[in-house]
Amino acid sequence: MASPFATHAVTNQPPPLTGYDVFGADAALREAVVREGAAWAVDELHELGRLAGSEEWQEEGRRAEANRPELRTHDRYGHRIDLVEYHPAYHRLMETAVAHGLHGAPWADERPGAHVARAAKVIAWYQVDGGHVCPISMTYSSVPALRHEPALAAEWEPRLTSRAYDPSNRPAAEKAGATCGMAMTEKQGGSDVRANTTVARPDGDGYRLTGHKWFCSAPMSDGFLMLAQAPGGLSCFWVPRYAPDGARNPIHIQRLKDKLGDRSNASSEIELLDTWGALVGEEGRGVRTIIEMVGHTRLDCALGSAAIMRHGVAQATWHAHHRQAFGAPLDQQPLMANVLADLAVESEAATAAALRLARAFDERDRDEHESALLRVLTPVVKYWTCKRAPQHAAEALECLGGAGYVEESPLPRLYRQSPVNGVWEGSGNVICLDVLRAMARAPESVDAYWAEVGLAAGADARLDAAVEALGKELTDLDSIELRARRIVEQMAVVLQGSLLVRHAPAAVADAFCASRLAGESGRAFGTLPAGVDVAAIVKRALPTP
Ligand SMILES: Cc1cc2nc3c(=O)[nH]c(=O)nc-3n(C[C@H](O)[C@H](O)[C@H](O)COP(=O)(O)OP(=O)(O)OC[C@H]3O[C@@H](n4cnc5c(N)ncnc54)[C@H](O)[C@@H]3O)c2cc1C
Repeated sequence: MASPFATHAVTNQPPPLTGYDVFGADAALREAVVREGAAWAVDELHELGRLAGSEEWQEEGRRAEANRPELRTHDRYGHRIDLVEYHPAYHRLMETAVAHGLHGAPWADERPGAHVARAAKVIAWYQVDGGHVCPISMTYSSVPALRHEPALAAEWEPRLTSRAYDPSNRPAAEKAGATCGMAMTEKQGGSDVRANTTVARPDGDGYRLTGHKWFCSAPMSDGFLMLAQAPGGLSCFWVPRYAPDGARNPIHIQRLKDKLGDRSNASSEIELLDTWGALVGEEGRGVRTIIEMVGHTRLDCALGSAAIMRHGVAQATWHAHHRQAFGAPLDQQPLMANVLADLAVESEAATAAALRLARAFDERDRDEHESALLRVLTPVVKYWTCKRAPQHAAEALECLGGAGYVEESPLPRLYRQSPVNGVWEGSGNVICLDVLRAMARAPESVDAYWAEVGLAAGADARLDAAVEALGKELTDLDSIELRARRIVEQMAVVLQGSLLVRHAPAAVADAFCASRLAGESGRAFGTLPAGVDVAAIVKRALPTP
């Protein structure tokens, strides 16, 4: 018989958001995939989306984050071993990501739309755990840089694109698959890599590197692209875990970073001591070589931040749909509907821009417009998508009230993860300065940008006015460096507006133009003006299992 004192009947709490198709439930992503040329991947995306939304994989993501990797520097006899031990959940996540080609499918199967298909997979799978997507992203991004050395690429590309994940410590030649890391940042300078002090001394067919790296994520990778000072200047090197003579290359892991988020991913400090490396590209052209890699990881920063926003919207709309307060479901109360719609609009804009950028990666070699557009779009989209994610995650968390603040909820993880994409691969200011550099050195990229946003000309007067204002802003060179953030932000919202006006439902485009282009909203989320069809926007955003 139930105790008369029992108080533990749980009512008015939403069911957990599991058992759904993360891709299928995301209308903005589904539509973008088809629009940007990857309709052929829809079945694969549903398959991965169902995994991502399953209780099993959501739980694996939680476990990988909760059980941080541990460093073992020495064995019991005092020999260096430099091993990072991960929780089994991390390896399962990696194995699944690799099996679905997130780490390299577009290089093995270069059909049109391959980067878009992969981008959509990243957005879906990142919603399980963002941390392990770091090594996945670096592996994907390493290939175009390695292609500067055809012999190296011939040897490593098949491993880096293999669908087999093998985390064992054997030499790569004995393994079916391999992963890649990147080490540029040093203590005295991260953004300013010219300050790198790691030295590369020519030695026979290769080089010997001595120095340190202050951030090196995924130190268990099979190889790394690194920058070091060679006699001819800062250069890019391929540094495998095992040197060609079969010996373990000295890559001494000093410690793992204790990070705000991104916890399933081990980020380390390493020391190099006569470590073997092969030159990639020419001596003195290290930045130009590794920038091929950085361009792709910047795409992934935008994808990761778009994923964080979509996940936040899914959780917030789900909670507000199932939770009642003051006699009505939260999502039917005007002020909460405004918040949810505003979050959904931001998420749609981020997804549309990130997938548009992925198409430019797909078509860069076939189409001059896309190649020029890529140069300026990559930093513009990276900057703004990453900049919006932390604010967005905080607001999505608040939609769940106290339940959003407790660690059993996925929201704290999202919140902690949300600033990372803005920091790495070029922090905000550095990215904005890169946009100015692109405008100065590659004016054709600005022409391509205008041509792109011009496709929406005349569709919405508020967008037309924003385009005109941006044009004035760009021709004014006075204090342009000081104004760089403002300029890049405007470029991003004009691009997003042009995409939404052309492709999104009218309610979404209208809300975006009113709030982001015409200034008819406040500074916090949830300040869309009256007249916007918030109910339609929220309905579209709500995930349905
Ligand atoms: C979790 C994590 C993992 C990482 N993993 C890796 C990795 O695997 N490999 C790797 O190489 N690096 C990695 N990094 C390092 C990351 O790329 C750097 O932290 C980043 O590039 C910034 O460099 P920094 O930390 O030296 O900061 P700084 O270069 O000192 O910059 C500090 C601030 O100053 C700003 N700034 C810099 N120059 C200017 C300027 N001219 N004008 C105005 N503002 C400026 C920057 O935007 C930034 O906000 C990782 C970082 C994190 C947080």
